[in-house]
Amino acid sequence: MRKISMVDLKSQYEKIKTEIDLGIQEVINTTAFINGPAVKAFQQELEQYLGVKHVIPCANGTDALQVSMMALGLQPGDEVITTSFTFIATAEVIALLRLTPVLVDVDPNSYNIDPEAIRRAITPRTKAIVPVHLFGQCADMEAIMDIAREHNLYIIEDNCQAIGADYIYKDGRHKKAGTIGHVGCTSFFPSKNLGCYGDGGAIFTDNDALAAQLRVVVNHGMTVRYYHDYVGVNSRLDSIQATILKIKLGHLDEYASARRGAADYYDKAFSGHSKLKTPERVPFSNHVFHQYTLVTEGFSRDELQQFLASRDIPAMIYYPVAMHMQKAYQDPRYKKGDFPVTEALCSHVISLPMHTELDEEQLFHITSSVLEFVNKN
Ligand SMILES: *Cc1c(COP(=O)(O)O)cnc(C)c1O
Repeated sequence: MRKISMVDLKSQYEKIKTEIDLGIQEVINTTAFINGPAVKAFQQELEQYLGVKHVIPCANGTDALQVSMMALGLQPGDEVITTSFTFIATAEVIALLRLTPVLVDVDPNSYNIDPEAIRRAITPRTKAIVPVHLFGQCADMEAIMDIAREHNLYIIEDNCQAIGADYIYKDGRHKKAGTIGHVGCTSFFPSKNLGCYGDGGAIFTDNDALAAQLRVVVNHGMTVRYYHDYVGVNSRLDSIQATILKIKLGHLDEYASARRGAADYYDKAFSGHSKLKTPERVPFSNHVFHQYTLVTEGFSRDELQQFLASRDIPAMIYYPVAMHMQKAYQDPRYKKGDFPVTEALCSHVISLPMHTELDEEQLFHITSSVLEFVNKN
């Protein structure tokens, strides 16, 4: 059996090696390493794929979030509502910009931000909401957009984990994750669903004026060459990464179905088990399974992780600590017990290997090992 990894980028590369190697060599030949034609070409293809008017490439997903908040003109003291169950970057940029993060709990089945909890957290100082499409499935965007319209708020989608997922409206219309709110952010970190071979990110919007401002902010706040009307940042996607991403974008849907196939296999093995809760698939989104995350019940999650490691099966805890329990984010407004769903998830979730290259032999080894441990504990 091939060695099992959380993410198998090597096997994925082997299948597209010729194209990738040629693409990288071409960038080197032209030496257009920064802002080369490859960046523009990828940008345009991603705009088409997503059905969005503007893609603004940048250096990583964290920058995408930060730049969005800067371009929207959010000011110190403005409240930004986000989820207590996410990767740190979401709250980090809010704190860095001296905005006030307001945390809300998640839905226990989808692990995504709970629209009712958002409503309860709104104050006159609320300016924006950052829903995270966690683990590859959209948050309840129709409900969230309704709240935004009622209260005149910006929606910044953190789509770092769900690129390629479809949001399905009640009337049957589809829209790509990250193109529903005022602005969407993604990461091309290697292990993401569309990952490059280094760092990368992008911002999406349909709004022309906002797109122009985003382009100014990522480029040192520069409007005319060497005239700086705003304090900006330096955040670029380089040409080698763009070339790789353009090639991989052509495979994104096929990658998503490979992930879904692995998830189906896991679901079939675990569904109905009294000690394992499989991830819910909500009716308003398809799932691109950035992670396959189980909720454990009635046995030690950490012992399961150790047992799997003894069988050469990696498993990860995304995420072990709720945002309000992180040392750097201690805040007198919040204490242990304030976000019971998030806190329970933090101590009961476990994510199994999930990538585009899992084969049946590996999946059988993973599922039978999990069941062996769970059934005797
Ligand atoms: C990965 C990720 C980010 C940050 O992306 P980077 O490219 O690593 O900066 C932000 N939010 C979420 C939810 C992520 O998963």
